[in-house]
Amino acid sequence: MVAIQESATIEQDDAHLLREAGLRVTRPRLLVIDLLRSTPGHHSADDIGTLLAEKSTPLPRASVYNVASALVDCGLVTMVSVGPGSARYEYGAPWHHHFVCKICGAIQDVHCVLGKKPCLDPDDIAGDVEEAQVTFRGTCASCLRAVPA
Ligand SMILES: [Zn+2]
Ligand SMILES: [Zn+2]
Repeated sequence: MVAIQESATIEQDDAHLLREAGLRVTRPRLLVIDLLRSTPGHHSADDIGTLLAEKSTPLPRASVYNVASALVDCGLVTMVSVGPGSARYEYGAPWHHHFVCKICGAIQDVHCVLGKKPCLDPDDIAGDVEEAQVTFRGTCASCLRAVPA
């Protein structure tokens, strides 16, 4: 079926997701979850703020941070640890890992064999492991091509 999803339906989906995750439905949360769902990739809080402003639904920077961390806490959104610099947020499943280029900073998704977290649970941790993110680092294909021979 090819159908353009009505914005009211999308908003219901988003509200449903928030409620399922145990969050109260608020406008800022709807805006951020909708943006992350409709914009695949890894976004910093600043990116989210800029994208929302471009859609004429701006949110103050502090709200973006608060909402993003609430969405991470309830498991709807992953905070991707890509190393120094700002945290990146990414919507949803399946669970996967990341390859970060040390030259240009590009982030690529890396398939996770298990596809759900925690995909690693080492014996030598005395505690409850909730997630294990593997960050692969190196040089991406386009930076490799750009390196002078
Ligand atoms: Zn690169
Ligand atoms: Zn990713």
